[in-house]
Amino acid sequence: MSESCVFCSIVAGDLPSRKVHEDERVLAFMDINPISDGHLLVIPKAHARDLHDVPADDLAACALVAQQLATRAVERLGADGVNLLQCSGEAAFQTVFHVHLHVIPRYAGDP
Ligand code: AMP
Ligand code: ZN
Repeated sequence: MSESCVFCSIVAGDLPSRKVHEDERVLAFMDINPISDGHLLVIPKAHARDLHDVPADDLAACALVAQQLATRAVERLGADGVNLLQCSGEAAFQTVFHVHLHVIPRYAGDP
């Protein structure tokens, strides 16, 4: 855990979140500033800074959870498509430096 990390604080329960999935390795919760209905984030519980830093097992576990939640967005939210987004580094618009996958449901006719 990194003491100054917002997502580590969420994992620890020191900050609130709307959790949608939790297992021993992975946590998924709703994005606080969603860009579509159902936008959520999937993170490894163990702190890693970005795509280059995260252990393969944690990355694989996050990818599988992201796939499951993307399918759920289609089946339960009626999404017409899904974007998976991962930003690594400031130049790629990463703003929270605990690696995460965005699951962004898309709806036909979205702006
Ligand atoms: P990125 O630009 O890829 O680093 O995305 C960081 C994401 O984290 C943004 O979409 C933020 O809205 C989201 N975010 C930041 N703080 C929180 C929080 N406390 N709870 C949920 N989502 C958050
Ligand atoms: Zn962290």
